Amino acid sequence: MSIHEECGLFGISDPHGDCARTTYYGLYALQHRGQEACGIATINQRVLSFHKDVGLVGDVFHPDVLDRLNGTMAVGHVRYATTGGGQRENAQPLTLKYVKGTLAVAHNGNLVNAGVCRAVKGLRGAFSLLVMSPQKLIAVRDPWGFRPLCMGRRGDAVIFASESCALHAVGAQFERELDPGEIVVVEGTQVRSIRENCQGSSSHMCIFEYIYFARPDSVLCGQSVHLARRNAGRLLAREFPVEADVVIGVPDSGLDAAMGFAEESGIPYGVGLVKNRYIGRTFITPGQESREQAVRIKLGALASCVAGKRVVMVDDSIVRGTTSKQIVSLLREAGATEVHMYSSAPPFIAPCYFGTDIPDRDALIACNYTQEEMREMIGADSLHFLSLEALHQIAPQADCGFCDGCFTGTYPIEV
Ligand code: AMP
Repeated sequence: MSIHEECGLFGISDPHGDCARTTYYGLYALQHRGQEACGIATINQRVLSFHKDVGLVGDVFHPDVLDRLNGTMAVGHVRYATTGGGQRENAQPLTLKYVKGTLAVAHNGNLVNAGVCRAVKGLRGAFSLLVMSPQKLIAVRDPWGFRPLCMGRRGDAVIFASESCALHAVGAQFERELDPGEIVVVEGTQVRSIRENCQGSSSHMCIFEYIYFARPDSVLCGQSVHLARRNAGRLLAREFPVEADVVIGVPDSGLDAAMGFAEESGIPYGVGLVKNRYIGRTFITPGQESREQAVRIKLGALASCVAGKRVVMVDDSIVRGTTSKQIVSLLREAGATEVHMYSSAPPFIAPCYFGTDIPDRDALIACNYTQEEMREMIGADSLHFLSLEALHQIAPQADCGFCDGCFTGTYPIEV
């Protein structure tokens, strides 16, 4: 089994209880990090209960389930949709098993801190971990800091979440992020930090979190995700100026960068594409031959915005190129006279070994075609990718280093 790291984690220790409901709300706010399966485990008077299944948070949990799960500690998980991993047994929280990647563990046993510390030393790769024993809630961030994990408070409650947006969703105050390698142990209202696996300043957070994965209202490593995306758009406009009439973003992940592009270029921002809100990423995609149909169901082009116009279309990234091709043709059908495609990420040239679901090189369009060939395949009038230099400027507030292995083929640890 492989556990994909964009998965979302939420954990809470609250002596006043009702941790299941808080975790449910927290997972709802992290749904974008995984739509395949979800689960919540709780401790009530030392007894562990859990409920998990494939599906979205709102479908898997019902009021009676949450009532049954009520407790003074909880850990929850949303699992990222990956190819061929939709079985119920892949839902978490799990009872401890390590592979690469995020692991939400609910451990109903006599778990001692030393056991967790030793285990963490032996793990390589990207993971955030929440471990719950009858008395303790333990949060762990991997020593390279590939994935985010933050901590907040709500009264006496201590809360951990993959992203700060989940803290706000449950009315908690953001306190801080865990340092790479840090272990935080919560026992009742006592909080203790163990830093023996911290490596100092050599953090390598996944830069794709800013571009695509995280929610725009989250702050990661001190940097607002929304502003990082807007910066990417501004930098794109500076690197590749164009004459056009309107700038549009591909919803949802291209919108913030499109706004930045419009601000920098002075070209008006428009709503050129509308996304069907009821489509999650679990949408049953027809076979490759009818991908066109899938994009048509997800997105509609607004002729009133694009007809007769030279359009700048900004998306967060191009992976296989199939989506961009379909969107370009939707815009042309709606009357766009020119479509200039901008990706706010550089071309993907290498796989990710740290949890982002990037396909193998043979499926990555940028590995197999020149930029001009890609432009032609996508059917755009021009095609531009954010440069690597600019990529490193999108998050000036971030107090961490980055992993950009999928754009460079160079990774912070041996793969
Ligand atoms: P493609 O048709 O393969 O080029 O798909 C590109 C689209 O996939 C972009 O609009 C991205 O928003 C989205 N995307 C990028 N990375 C991922 C990922 N790891 N998982 C799911 N979707 C992604």
